[in-house]
Amino acid sequence: MKIETQCLHAGYEPGNGETRVLPIYQSTTYKYDSTEHVGKLFDLTADGHMYSRISNPTVAAVEQKIAALEGGVGALCTTSGQAASLISLLNIVNAGDHFITASTIYGGTVNLFAVTLKRLGIECTFVDADADEEDLQKAFRPNTKAVFGETIANPAIAVLDIEKFARLAHRNGVPLIIDNTFATPVLCRPIEFGADIVIHSTTKYMDGHAIQVGGVIVDSGNFDWTNGKFPGLCEPDASYHGIVYTKQFGKAAYITKARVQLMRDFGAYPSAQDAFLLNLGLETLSVRMERHCANADAVAHFLAKSDKIEFVNYPTLDGNPYRALAQKYLPRGASGVISFSIKGGRERAIKFMDALELASIVVHVADIRTCVLHPASSTHRQLTDEQLVGAGITPGMIRLSVGLEHIDDILADIQRGLSALD
Ligand SMILES: *Cc1c(COP(=O)(O)O)cnc(C)c1O
Repeated sequence: MKIETQCLHAGYEPGNGETRVLPIYQSTTYKYDSTEHVGKLFDLTADGHMYSRISNPTVAAVEQKIAALEGGVGALCTTSGQAASLISLLNIVNAGDHFITASTIYGGTVNLFAVTLKRLGIECTFVDADADEEDLQKAFRPNTKAVFGETIANPAIAVLDIEKFARLAHRNGVPLIIDNTFATPVLCRPIEFGADIVIHSTTKYMDGHAIQVGGVIVDSGNFDWTNGKFPGLCEPDASYHGIVYTKQFGKAAYITKARVQLMRDFGAYPSAQDAFLLNLGLETLSVRMERHCANADAVAHFLAKSDKIEFVNYPTLDGNPYRALAQKYLPRGASGVISFSIKGGRERAIKFMDALELASIVVHVADIRTCVLHPASSTHRQLTDEQLVGAGITPGMIRLSVGLEHIDDILADIQRGLSALD
């Protein structure tokens, strides 16, 4: 099936006379015919649902759909994108271990990696993703266990060279984890370029309507966990009287461990209701992404022509440093998120934003409705102007998430903002 068809049909196949639409299994528990069967479930030797902190039929259908969209062997839904990042790493990284991440990643992920994981004894090195392989190699240590990056990163709208990162990770015997939130599998399937694990904040385009917070982890099934660096996957798990994940689950070892061990213990599993809402978003994902990309491309070119704009970050623009990478990794479009800077700094940017009528000011991106955010006065408010520049954010920078409205109405609104600067 092509991705457009998978969005609608993967994960749920009703039998004769069954509900056409994925049902909401609003149940915490499941009934069994024998205690013997329950014993097998707890030994992980029988398939089936045990308890809705670990799995649920509605959520499972959405997991199978997303696994199909990304081309993985399995997926695990989580209650947020943050929980997906956390669990994707804790599944293979322990206290005393180290991992490497591209420095251009989501701000919430920076906090998680630099502050909270550090408190748990896990160290992270932030690297310039655009550096050459020799320089990047220097960041690896004997205890490095993973490499992390985002397909399209905020606020520079930087495109990651996924194949370069995969080569480096694999040469050092560790997996590459890619946060594919902004691209979605409609625009890029990182597993095809060597990523081993793909995660998402499903809160963004996958949902698209701003109605549920969620995340997902997808396992490619391609990484060999038996190279000596990942005992948690290859040695007996005492919490399941000695099962060995790589022996019992083969290609699905990583994603099975994440579910039956970490999800069991951390309890960050979404409700059936939220999975149902996410599925509605997924059904139209491919159609929406096409329009987001077309609208954003038009807005980026419109902004680039204005003499009130200092710069526009969008990979399809002439002269953008990520243009070649976008042509390779994002041939269908570069998503709906643009950042640009108004000449004259903070006050002029605020004046522009306050004049907008269609675009709403929200702390969110990747919504069907056009929205804007001024990082310097919101998400990065605590930083001085000098610190902002260090973080790649100018005082006049605006992040624009282009929605699905008619392009004429979006451009008219932007013109309204620009005219307020006269
Ligand atoms: C929003 C976001 C996250 C965090 O997701 P939540 O669902 O808000 O927890 C992670 N990565 C990226 C790229 C994001 O945009």
